[in-house]
Amino acid sequence: CRRRGLGDNWAAYNHTLDSESQDRLRLTRELRLALDNDEFELHFQPKVSLANGAIIGCEALLRWHHPERGLQPPASFIPVAEKSQLIRPIGRWVLNEACRYLSVWRDAGLGIVNVSLNVSMVQFTESNFSRTVAEALAAHDVPPQSLTLEITESVFDQESEQLREEIIRLHELGVNLSLDDFGTGYSSLRYLQQYPFDEIKIDQSFTRKLLDDAYSECIVNAILDIAKALGAEAVAEGVENEQMRSGLMALGCRNGQGYYYSVPLEVEDFRWLLDKRRTLPLAAHHSNSSIE
Ligand code: C2E
Ligand code: MG
Ligand code: MG
Ligand code: MG
Repeated sequence: CRRRGLGDNWAAYNHTLDSESQDRLRLTRELRLALDNDEFELHFQPKVSLANGAIIGCEALLRWHHPERGLQPPASFIPVAEKSQLIRPIGRWVLNEACRYLSVWRDAGLGIVNVSLNVSMVQFTESNFSRTVAEALAAHDVPPQSLTLEITESVFDQESEQLREEIIRLHELGVNLSLDDFGTGYSSLRYLQQYPFDEIKIDQSFTRKLLDDAYSECIVNAILDIAKALGAEAVAEGVENEQMRSGLMALGCRNGQGYYYSVPLEVEDFRWLLDKRRTLPLAAHHSNSSIE
């Protein structure tokens, strides 16, 4: 068979680059339209007390109803939205939508305590992000304590004075700050201590390995200690079964999220849970009630 020369490789490389950047351009164009065409939707995953299954809040997760490709997960478009800075208007939409639901659920007497949403680094570089948050809260007459902003650890890869100031301002505004995907990035404890985090989310990779070996148990224990040292509440992500729930509880973790309790739900389904004051998981509840 013929050995491919440098020229052929180069052509192939160029071709991939081209189609990739073309895909990205197309996606950017589609995302721009998506806001106008109202193609975004928030799904809500309950945040649960591990002890009794009570819903203590929820995380709003973005979905995109693409006109041809159907329901799109955030991983398929958030990176492009970040690169094109479209994440700023999209993020404002998420923020307003979350505040709107908070006020709707409050007015309906559903007693939901808290909505968390994810914030990209790019949104922090927007001038006066904290004011955008304050305005969204005011527009829907929602108290700041009912909103939690989740920031991934990687935000701090590009640490700046502006980022620091914005985080402090958000804290002073009274919204809760959560450190998402904890353990997957690089950060020193001394450094984290400079930030007023109310919550630390244990990344699902640790939750998953918890039952496998003593080593992973030590890591989760260490994360719980760090949370305690920072005065933050720990929340385990990716709780997928009863063994994980009891394992986490045994280590002193009090809150969790995951498929064991519920996948992210469409708003009507989440509202139903609130309305019925259901505890999770539903299957366990059903088996209980059949005994009664
Ligand atoms: P995240 O904030 O860490 O959200 C948790 C992800 O884990 C969600 O994926 C959720 O559906 C999934 N998950 C929840 N429980 C389980 C479980 O038990 N097992 C497994 N395997 N997965 C579980 P999703 O919705 O695809 O979101 C992925 C990421 O996209 C989020 O990670 C977040 O970083 C980002 N994202 C989502 N919505 C937004 C948004 O509105 N703005 C921004 N900037 N990022 C967002
Ligand atoms: Mg999150
Ligand atoms: Mg996470
Ligand atoms: Mg994540």
